[in-house]
Amino acid sequence: MKLLKGIGVSPGIAVGRIFILEQSTETEKRNIQSCEMEIARLNDALQESASELEKLYEETRKKIGDKEAAIFEAQLFMLQDQEFIERIKSEIETEKINAEWAVENVTRYYASLFLNMENEYMRERAQDIKDIGNRIKNSLKGLSKNPSDKNAMEGIIAAKEITPSYMAQLNTEKITGVLTETGGKTSHAAIISRALGIPAVTGIQALLEEVQNGDYIVFDGESGNVYINPSDEILRDYKEKLKDLISIKNKLNSLKGTKSITSDGRQIKVFSNISSDKDIKIVLENDAEGIGLFRTEFLLMGRNNIPSCEEQFEVYKKVASLMQGNTVIIRTFDIGGDKPLDYIGLAPEDNPFLGYRGIRISLDRKNLFKEQLKAILKASAFGNIKIMFPMISTIGELIQAKEILFEAKEDLRKQEIPFNEEIQAGIMIETPAAAIMSDLLSKEADFFSIGTNDLIQYTMAADRLNSKVSYLYNFYQPAVLRLIKHVIDSGHREGIEVGMCGEAAGETGLIPVWLGMGIDELSVNPNSILATRNIVQNLNFHEAKAMTDNLLNLSSDEDVKLCLEEFSQSCSCL
Ligand code: PEP
Ligand code: MG
Repeated sequence: MKLLKGIGVSPGIAVGRIFILEQSTETEKRNIQSCEMEIARLNDALQESASELEKLYEETRKKIGDKEAAIFEAQLFMLQDQEFIERIKSEIETEKINAEWAVENVTRYYASLFLNMENEYMRERAQDIKDIGNRIKNSLKGLSKNPSDKNAMEGIIAAKEITPSYMAQLNTEKITGVLTETGGKTSHAAIISRALGIPAVTGIQALLEEVQNGDYIVFDGESGNVYINPSDEILRDYKEKLKDLISIKNKLNSLKGTKSITSDGRQIKVFSNISSDKDIKIVLENDAEGIGLFRTEFLLMGRNNIPSCEEQFEVYKKVASLMQGNTVIIRTFDIGGDKPLDYIGLAPEDNPFLGYRGIRISLDRKNLFKEQLKAILKASAFGNIKIMFPMISTIGELIQAKEILFEAKEDLRKQEIPFNEEIQAGIMIETPAAAIMSDLLSKEADFFSIGTNDLIQYTMAADRLNSKVSYLYNFYQPAVLRLIKHVIDSGHREGIEVGMCGEAAGETGLIPVWLGMGIDELSVNPNSILATRNIVQNLNFHEAKAMTDNLLNLSSDEDVKLCLEEFSQSCSCL
């Protein structure tokens, strides 16, 4: 038996066999002896890639439609282009380099040609070229890239890292757990695993050296303890833990249909975060009172083009209708950071979290933004929708975003398309700049929602994905708590509602603090809705407020945690 330690990021017990996810590593440059041999390898890879694309074309045509399938038909056409193939061969022959490196160079060359074109459609073709290049390179390296492989995977996945879009496409019936070497609690991949209910542990050093395909594993997505080939005793313990979790779940189920109201009568809203219309099923099963954050950028992932205004409208309308008059806060695209989107021609950046991201992209690509706003506005005729802008740092950005919203409304009026004229437009408070300026932003925004995931990383200067700095990146830092208090007070002074949709909203120990500060709404992942309501119902607002006033004078995260432990012991029900 071996014990590995990581960061528990998605609770639950997972038991099963390991499936190691082969991921394409960096392409290496090698000098070669025989050009013929290298060209023969290339020809084989081209042939394999072509038959993969033909298969993908047929599958997509049957499963999705002709329009989507056409993407792969066009890729096949590019793959078989003689000029493209000759260029790769000539690189191999003149430079005496391996085929992988030649493919890398040539696809980079073509991608940059496309990226520099005026026309947006042509710029987007750069992604197709990169896709083709990756397919050929994977074939050369003996790695299959066919997405249908995901269906063959079963058990617990072990990987160096997992992207959010990959996580979103996992088959939840077959994948019982996820282990990775990198990532933190608020990485988007972790957030999705919680929403899917897949237990996960990240930040496990040298994971791929420690495990082998087929190893029997048991792990706990809360503590981060991962046992390889566990003893009978450990297995027994974990089966007991599993039983306890099931009995807690049954108790929480009895809270469905009740209100989130404290013992002395203060009511708040417990909403849910979603990243797809598919999440609504689990949201309704867990009795959420609304949607506090719809991460719409996930609509853009796992595909090669931006969904049209009409396609987006259908999704927003479906979500609003299914929520039957309850609030649905739709956040405009928050692309960038750990949610890159190659096909819109974004260049790689040294500091993606400090770069071209969220509202910065939307204001720069006005068409993309306006089409999305129109889709949201149109859907507002079918439910209780609010709009939210991400990553606001200045009042100017908010004013510009509202101007584009105004134009989108004008366009719809001209076309006589109905929408909610009173629709609210609020903002995420997730940069320290926005938090500090919240007294003035509250005059321009209809509501605030505090994005603690980013607010913590920017305030503490600690990357939310870097497990080495997780001692700084935590929900209990006094600097962050003080900023949050300032934001809530600023919003309330101007009479607007203040919610929270970062992962800290559902952090059990901190819920008394958010209530004590006067928060109006907590938006948590669907699996935490009832647990959050349970804590609210067991709290006394006045006691929570007194404890919070005192806690805001503490000087370290450790002291904050101690204070909260004492508080929870004094309220035996927590
Ligand atoms: C946040 O930053 O807290 C947030 C909710 O946004 P995201 O996690 O999508 O960056
Ligand atoms: Mg954020």
